[in-house]
Amino acid sequence: MPGPARVLVVSPHRDDETIGCGGTISRHADRGDAVHVVHLTGHGGASLAEAREAGRRLGVAGISTLSAPETQLTADRALLTELVAVFREVRPGVVYAPHADEDDPAHRVAAELAREARWISAYPILPDAGPALAEPPAVLYEFEVWTPMARPSVFVDITAVRDRKVDALTAYASQLAHNEWIDGALGLNRYRGVTSGHGEFVEAFTAVRTTHVSFGQ
Ligand SMILES: [Zn+2]
Repeated sequence: MPGPARVLVVSPHRDDETIGCGGTISRHADRGDAVHVVHLTGHGGASLAEAREAGRRLGVAGISTLSAPETQLTADRALLTELVAVFREVRPGVVYAPHADEDDPAHRVAAELAREARWISAYPILPDAGPALAEPPAVLYEFEVWTPMARPSVFVDITAVRDRKVDALTAYASQLAHNEWIDGALGLNRYRGVTSGHGEFVEAFTAVRTTHVSFGQ
């Protein structure tokens, strides 16, 4: 059994981490993993206080916010440098980020930045982001927020922590005022449970791994 892991969740907005993988975050925290959440933008939407309270309910160890604007986010060098700095500070073995086919353009930017930051974190460029890591995070799991993936390949049974996910979503009171986000999120989790057979409520992912293929001498 490996020791506690370091986990980084790249979330475009405050609440996306809880909607997309709040149950999985709880399960990481319960086994002693250190989970850090980084939001690309702190503008618009939920407050930092709400994000902190949601994180506390899930068992998140740390939260930080990058300087992206409220709209028209782009995967530019400045934002990439900020994200690489977080990768190099947190030194995650496992990273979570939205998948690249999310309808929301900010979510697609998060997907692109996370994929790029993952390998750059261990590559000797962007010195402003700190010294390069010895190796990149072993795996990046991409999660669903509001656009279901066509072919998820990794399934996490969140049935046992479902109520904590609801509790954390409830912390985002400003976001719940006009929309039934909890029903939407749990509806997708229930659908994933039924169609995957991996539990009553399930969060679904695709995995991006670094695999070294050796053909011998
Ligand atoms: Zn979002």
